[in-house]
Amino acid sequence: MSSGDMYSGYIGKLIEELEKLPGIGNKSAERLAFHIIGLPKERVEKLSTALTEAKAHIRCCSKCCTLTDREICSVCSDEERDQSTIMVVENTRDLAAYEKTGKYKGVYHVLHGAISPMLGIGPQDIKLKELIIRLQGDVKEVIIATNSSLEGEATAMYIGKLIKPTGIKVTRIASGVPVGGDLEYIDEVTLLRALDGRIEI
Ligand code: ZN
Repeated sequence: MSSGDMYSGYIGKLIEELEKLPGIGNKSAERLAFHIIGLPKERVEKLSTALTEAKAHIRCCSKCCTLTDREICSVCSDEERDQSTIMVVENTRDLAAYEKTGKYKGVYHVLHGAISPMLGIGPQDIKLKELIIRLQGDVKEVIIATNSSLEGEATAMYIGKLIKPTGIKVTRIASGVPVGGDLEYIDEVTLLRALDGRIEI
């Protein structure tokens, strides 16, 4: 019996929804639900508005596909950034991890996933088409910074083969990154080492 069943009606429903979130187990969902119920009405309304507004206004940057609330994200519209170097990452959290280092001066391309034959995710299911279109512009290097998981490696290989014939330099970040490790959990030093040690593929 899930904890949602133990409480009838609205409390049960709230717990049930919270429990569906990643990383939230039974106990955490219960704790959060009772915490939210104990909050002043205005706080709950703020939370609820933040959720609805985020969902309504956040979209993909028309250049790099990262999640943003503008037509073109702050990185792509920054004229100081080197638009001819594109780092390919799996998701917006990975982009944020590199941005936190403050050292990378190029731009990004966010795939929104990785190729996974096992999960039935093919090249057409991630933002690859959008990347290929960008390559028609002035691009000098594509740095593939997908995760070192099986899916991340498969995706890197696929993109490498796709870009190679265009003559654009393609590099892969060094494998200092723990196998299967999500980029967002890796410290800045490791990230920068992986970036500096990238090799041409
Ligand atoms: Zn962008």
